[in-house]
Parts: sequence; C-alpha cells; structure tokens
Amino acid sequence: MERLPLVTLAVGTALGLALGVTGTVAYDASRGDGDETPDSGAAAAPSSGAPTSQAPAERPTSVILLIGDGMDDSMITAARNYSVGAAGRLVLDGLPATGAMTTYGLVPGPGPDFTVDYVSDSAATASGFSTGVKTIDGRISQGPSAAAEAPGEDHETVLETYARSGRLTGNVTTADITDATPAAAAAHVNDRSCQDSTTMAACPAALKSAGGRGSIAEQLLDTGVDVLLGGGQERFDRPLEDGSASLLEHATTDRGYRSVRTADELADVDALDGGRLLGLFAPVHLTRKYAPLEARRGGATTDDGRCVEQDRGTQPTLAQMTTTAIDVLDNADGFFLQVEGASVDKAEHERDICGAIGELEDLDLAVQVALEHQSTHPGTLVIVTGDHAHSTQIVMDDRGGIDTATVTTADGDPMTVAYSTTYREAGDSKATHTGTQIRVAAIGPGSERVTGVIDQTELHAIMLGG
Ligand SMILES: [Zn+2]
Repeated sequence: MERLPLVTLAVGTALGLALGVTGTVAYDASRGDGDETPDSGAAAAPSSGAPTSQAPAERPTSVILLIGDGMDDSMITAARNYSVGAAGRLVLDGLPATGAMTTYGLVPGPGPDFTVDYVSDSAATASGFSTGVKTIDGRISQGPSAAAEAPGEDHETVLETYARSGRLTGNVTTADITDATPAAAAAHVNDRSCQDSTTMAACPAALKSAGGRGSIAEQLLDTGVDVLLGGGQERFDRPLEDGSASLLEHATTDRGYRSVRTADELADVDALDGGRLLGLFAPVHLTRKYAPLEARRGGATTDDGRCVEQDRGTQPTLAQMTTTAIDVLDNADGFFLQVEGASVDKAEHERDICGAIGELEDLDLAVQVALEHQSTHPGTLVIVTGDHAHSTQIVMDDRGGIDTATVTTADGDPMTVAYSTTYREAGDSKATHTGTQIRVAAIGPGSERVTGVIDQTELHAIMLGG
C-alpha cells in the first residue's frame, strides 16, 4: 500500500546531502490510534532488503518484548566478554533473526517536518516502538509538538491495543514502574517527569482536574495493566490527585490489584484469580546485581578484577519477575508483556561498568525465561533489543588520561572501558546517551522482519502482526 514514508531521510541520505536537503523528518500522523492496518510489509522492504518481508506476516498470538535500556552493541560485547568470554555467547546472542535498528527522535518544532534529534532519550524511543510514531525527548506516547510543555497527540500503544481487545497485558521493569520506558507502554503525557500527582509541574493539562488523563502512575492503573512489577514503593505511597487515597490504596481497593512486596510473595502468585498483580519491590529502583565500579582518572578496578555481588534483600530478579508474569498471563487468547532491564542505562550514566554488566546478565536470564516459553508456544513473538545507544566503550588502555575502569573477563584477561561522553556538572560526572544504531533480535511470528536495518518505530507493526 502507498503511504507517506515515515522516514524521508532514510530513503537516501547521500542524495539528501548532495542536494543540501535539511535533516528533517516528516511526521506521519496517519499512524494513528489503534491502527493495525498492515503497512510495513511493503514499507520495510526497501530499507531492510529482506526478501521475506514481502510475504504476508503471520500475526503473533502473544508478544514478549525485552528491552535492555541503553543496551547497544558495545555494552553487549562488554557484558559478553565479562560473563562468558570473547568467544562465548550470551543467551540473547542466540536469537535466529537479528538486525540493526535506528533510534533517532525529533526536535520540538511547529511541524509537520521536524529536525532530527540524533541522540534520543528513553521516553522518545520507548514511545517510538510502543506507538509506531517518532516523537521528542521526554514525551510519553504522544506525538511531537512545538515545545516540551505543549502536549502532543496521544497514540495507542501495543499494550493498549491488546488490552482493548480483552487480552492480558504485563509491564515489568527493574526501575520505578513509572519510569519512562514502562510509562510509554501504557500512559500518555507530554513530560516523563509527571509520574505521580506530586510531580505534575511540567504537565498541567494532564491533571485530571484539568480534564487530562492524570499522572503516569494513575494512568498505569486506569489502563488496567494486568501485571505491573518493578520498583516504586515510595511513589505509590503518594496520594491521588484528589487526595482521597494513596496510589497503592487506590490500586488495591478501586482497581482490583493484589499487592506483593517481596520475592517470596511473588513466588506464591500462580494465577490472576485474586485480581490484577501489582508488585513493588523497592522504594525506587531495584538493586543492581553488582556493587558499583565507576570509571575514574587513572583507572578503577576491584581487588581481583571481578565485579562484587551485592545483597538484594527480598527483591526478586528480573528473571523471577518475568517467570511469574508469563505464568499468570499465559492463555489461549494471547498476551503482551514488556520486560525492561532498566539499569543498564542508569549504570552507564554513572560510568559504572559492573552495574551495567550485572543488569545485562540479569536481562539475559529473563531472555532465557522468555525463550523457554516460546519453545513450547511457537505463536509467541519474542523480541530482544535496546532503546538507544549509550556511552560504554571498550578501549585499549587508560593511557589517554580519560576516566576508565578495568575488569577481568571470563577469559581471565583485563578489559578496560571508557566513557567518552562524560560531562562534569556541579562536581558530578555523568555519561550521556549516544546515537548509533543498536541490535534488535527476535524469534517467532514476524521475526523474519527483524533483519537488515529497520527503525524502532517498525516494531509497533511487527508486534501487532500488521
Ligand atoms: Zn538514559
């Protein structure tokens, strides 16, 4: 079918440069709410070059989308070297269909053509694969607009499409459950900071009292996501906008959620008979597997070069959360489940190589859980990818006077990493995202479309089988 290409720049960057075409991207508003019309069977072919993309796609019964936040090829390589050695393979390395995915976003503007934002944040990128529509930084499943404070158009997410058709849904993360990536699966707001009623300064139009959908936390509960697992105990102790109850009280009394707080309580859940499931296992974000090892001038390392495991108390692992989520969501009509290893990104911002490696190891175990389910449920599409690239680089050594950290890999050899995007502000050192393409891998119906180079917005149609 003919449709305005979502990505005008992608059809010929060299040509565009030769002609002096400005780097703008047409905003395709036709990708509207609940649009399951097949479009990327044809649209994907020119960019991916995959001959199989011409064939009608088989619609997956269920989808499990696993996101390593900030998980790019460099971070995957670093974790592989550390965990299984340079010649070893992670579980996520074994998915049969593998491609590359572009992740750029848009700069606020009057539209309909928007300047390209080559380095996106997790809000824009998660909105991209959740809705099929590119947007601006900070935006949660709304289209772009002239300014961050100006709301864009709401676009239905894959999770919401599943929920609207009466199918079960789940949203699992190691972050606060209202963090950008889980938020974009089932909420719509102009700014990612509007996570509960006490943090709505950037989103006055979203207040329920102003006729809006409310904060991200309220929206997750209103959407009725069947399984919500992650961090955020402190947030859910905060009040609803009208002050009538806390978010947790509202969830359990008005929205039919069963609340669990520990790994043991989670393990006791074997069905949704008792209502929807809300598991909040940490005050904010879940504890990472390894204690921090932050890069610094002159190099940092541990006593033996290996990362040090830290006590995670009663918190479940991402694999445990994924296991329960799949167990209770599994049904003949299918389900949608998003699983995020959030702190690959958060550790990379802190230039913490051990934190990032541990979080990726944990995600890899969750991938194993998903693949075991897929092996007996071939109608399930499993996708493993990141949302944007990040800062970790594997370098030769620390001779450049840059901040580095060195760990001993599974090969028994030293691996040094650096963070070239580090900036220093108020005595703090943070590394920022980068803009390179990232890996996407899949198995199951539609996975044949996850080859060549695709854009992350194409995942929306692939997950819906459109
Ligand atoms: Zn980030």
